[in-house]
Amino acid sequence: MNSRFALGALTALIAAACGQAPTAPSVSPSGGMPGLLRSDADVSSPLRALAGRFTNALTGAAAAGITLTVDGIGAVAGDAAGQFNLETEAPDGRYRVTAAGAGVVSRQTTVTFPGTAPVISLIPSTFNMTAFDQMARQFGEPLGVTKRWTQAPALVIETSLVDPQSVVGGIPQYPPVASEQQLSDAAVNEVVALLSRALPLMTGGTFTGFASIGRATTPAGGSIEMDRPGTITVVRYNGLDQLCKGFTYFLYDTLTLEALGSRLFLQNCSQLAGAAPLSAVVAHELGHALGFAHVSAAPSVMAATVFSDVTDFDRQVGAIVFQRAAGNQAPDVDPDVAVNQPARRFGGQTRIVGPIP
Ligand SMILES: [Zn+2]
Repeated sequence: MNSRFALGALTALIAAACGQAPTAPSVSPSGGMPGLLRSDADVSSPLRALAGRFTNALTGAAAAGITLTVDGIGAVAGDAAGQFNLETEAPDGRYRVTAAGAGVVSRQTTVTFPGTAPVISLIPSTFNMTAFDQMARQFGEPLGVTKRWTQAPALVIETSLVDPQSVVGGIPQYPPVASEQQLSDAAVNEVVALLSRALPLMTGGTFTGFASIGRATTPAGGSIEMDRPGTITVVRYNGLDQLCKGFTYFLYDTLTLEALGSRLFLQNCSQLAGAAPLSAVVAHELGHALGFAHVSAAPSVMAATVFSDVTDFDRQVGAIVFQRAAGNQAPDVDPDVAVNQPARRFGGQTRIVGPIP
């Protein structure tokens, strides 16, 4: 929606993740560079090929006119169908590569050789990278790198409302304390439906649904459990007004920058005319729970004050981020995680961002 919503404080936090999808390649005439090909003087290592494909990160279509430069080996040009075939006698191992060409943001990543066929997606240079940096790379320390979920999160809705005595200045304290008051089934189902609608939108279709959806009920006076591994836990509270707003905490691993969980707080609200609808606020808070920060340089549901629902820009950011390992940084530099053989990385410590409105 494009109407402007005057909205008070929203709070939210973030998440992170990674993963790559190899695709079957087909071999095409190599536009290979001189130092890549087999040397007649050295027959100690067999000639092998690494075939792969360049794609447009926004559309998935083939990207033509791209050259792949492999550190220490050489370079190969892709053909009009975006396919490349690198023949080399280089030793097995991991190689940093750069894909570059007219009309795309140069990308640095890693391939293993030999390995499955890498698909190297590239961001069109016309894409708003200032806004992309704001949304995808500015949530939580360190700044400037993406953080994301590596698999679809689980979802748990707490049915007990937060005890008003633990709400200070309209904001629930942490950890929240449960009241006797319960959400209705309709209220639970509404939030589940809005989050389920927003998840594929905000991940560029990567996650089509939550890994599981459940409810929890905390006895009155008890602390509400908000930290379940791999889970976004949602609780509702009564604030000082009837506006739809909320805030989020995002938990991620300091080493891998992969999401560990999120705590999502939503104020009980009425859908007031001229104010942000709950659907947009839920998408905004889910954005934080996925690892996204506020955006000012493009139309986005992640505007600090929610003006719109999910936009094309938001969907495109989600599509790019989930084609990159967590830790991707400007302009498009992946961490040393092989694009054609992603390995599970092992964790550091838990860091919490938030609460962010
Ligand atoms: Zn926010």
